[in-house]
Amino acid sequence: MDHSDKKKPSAAFKDNRLFKKLRHGVGKAIADFNLIEEGDRIAVAVSGGKDSYTLLLILEDLRRRAPVQFELVAVNIDSGYPGYRTDIIEDFFKTNEFSYRMVPSNHYAIIKEKRRPGSSYCAICSRLKRGELYEAARTLGCNKLALGHHQDDFIETLLLNQFFVGSLKSMSASMLADNGVTTVIRPLVYLAEEDIIAFSRQAELPVVCCCCPVCGTADMQRKRMKRLLSELQRDIPHVKNSMLKALSNVHPRHLLDPLLRRDSTGTLENTDLHINAPPALEPDTTVSQQIQD
Ligand code: SF4
Repeated sequence: MDHSDKKKPSAAFKDNRLFKKLRHGVGKAIADFNLIEEGDRIAVAVSGGKDSYTLLLILEDLRRRAPVQFELVAVNIDSGYPGYRTDIIEDFFKTNEFSYRMVPSNHYAIIKEKRRPGSSYCAICSRLKRGELYEAARTLGCNKLALGHHQDDFIETLLLNQFFVGSLKSMSASMLADNGVTTVIRPLVYLAEEDIIAFSRQAELPVVCCCCPVCGTADMQRKRMKRLLSELQRDIPHVKNSMLKALSNVHPRHLLDPLLRRDSTGTLENTDLHINAPPALEPDTTVSQQIQD
């Protein structure tokens, strides 16, 4: 495959200041959490939203510069919602010469059949999509799956779990999936959503709507968290950075979980933390819908 930058729209903004800032944030996340290693083959989930396009473009730019060899394969899951423009997403992959896999599915039909009246679309939709992504990664020979969750997703999930679930929990930057073979990575952990929005506008990324029946009206609890954070930010400009930093600066002795109790020497009394705990909520963008289920 010819990887010449000349024909690529992505080449047009490679020297853009905002792109460099975003790339720096991703590079730092990769280094801090050891997200990418020599020989990795990474499936990059691309829904056609601003976050996933940005993720793919930055990873590809880093791939070209990195001293370690790794591969990327863009993966799009079509949940089957009428009007979802997979053709636009596929054009983007082709124009930018990405290796890619388009995965059609009957998820919408399954959701219509299985969803209990009054329960959320997102809970079942996101679970089906995640399973399909794991399967696509496996069949494509990818050991890792990159998702486009950014700093705001991490913070909002932290608040949602505290406000509505009674749990101190957010997301992991790198975690082995339940299937035991795929490592899920989140390289955008340090990126602010407002920067991604600005970049996607500057770069005129071909963002497409998911076209699901609850598009734009789903996840009201998350929207409440967004509003709350934006109000707080007026008085405390660094509030989001501080909250994200808190996730990597945990003081277990100053928490109340009995499973974190330490003996007088400071050693954890119970090393099998949460082994019998109830199943945790999926750490994804639909946490509030799962709460409502
Ligand atoms: S908002 Fe997203 S997760 Fe929820 S139903 Fe629509 S496509 Fe699925």
